Amino acid sequence: MPIYEYACTACGEQIEVQATIAEKEKGLKVVCPKCGSRKTARVFGSFTVTGASRGQGGPSTCCGPQAGPGCCG
Ligand SMILES: [Zn+2]
Repeated sequence: MPIYEYACTACGEQIEVQATIAEKEKGLKVVCPKCGSRKTARVFGSFTVTGASRGQGGPSTCCGPQAGPGCCG
């Protein structure tokens, strides 16, 4: 079951919500456990799947042996 990461827009608390894709599609009601606000926004960028024990992200095409100009600052 995937874990969706949300952030409370009121206090900035990060919330991890475990839900099935079906539940997600129906619309999750995420309530901040810290301040009780329902103004939560989905956080993208760090996608976690339970059961998977993979390492850090995938191979990067930037900052690698074939990094082009403009990469790596
Ligand atoms: Zn909050």
